[in-house]
Amino acid sequence: MKIFVYPGSFDPITNGHLDIIERGASLCDKLIVAVLQNSAKKSSTTKDQRVDMIQKCVNHIPNVEVKTFDGLTVDFAKQNGATTILRGLRAVTDFEYELQMAFLNRQMNEQIDTCFLMASQRYSFLSSSLIRDIASYHGKIDDFVPKCIIEDVYRIYDKTGGNI
Ligand code: ADP
Repeated sequence: MKIFVYPGSFDPITNGHLDIIERGASLCDKLIVAVLQNSAKKSSTTKDQRVDMIQKCVNHIPNVEVKTFDGLTVDFAKQNGATTILRGLRAVTDFEYELQMAFLNRQMNEQIDTCFLMASQRYSFLSSSLIRDIASYHGKIDDFVPKCIIEDVYRIYDKTGGNI
């Protein structure tokens, strides 16, 4: 059974992430979306809040599971029988960081490879931080996150309480 792990902060999940999940799930038997608290990024959300939102968005894809983890992605992958780490590449700006992570992960466990999918052009400008900024001022996010989580995103990130 070919198992992929797609690790990330997903703070929150965006249409760009969902696109990678849908395309990645078609390349393997099981795709585990692995939600982590990224040590370099301060987050005001809990992993459970982020998992709930992802779960709502991936209900239609039968071979996708959502889990949380702390620690190294390669260890999580091994514990879950995965051979491949899935990552999305947006622009040149993602490349250097992703290359470094891929090299390090391979150095730590050469049984585990990284598979990159290029972001779809229409989502290549999209990031979770952009969504957090827009949502914090109750801006329009309909084109950026799946419809089923729009209310959750405002509830979690909107600092105005909807009073603009
Ligand atoms: P991390 O904290 O690991 O950077 P993110 O949630 O920001 O986690 O991203 C997880 C993965 O999804 C990364 O490989 C990132 O490059 C990719 N990604 C983020 N946004 C998009 C997008 N709009 N389109 C395609 N891939 C994306």
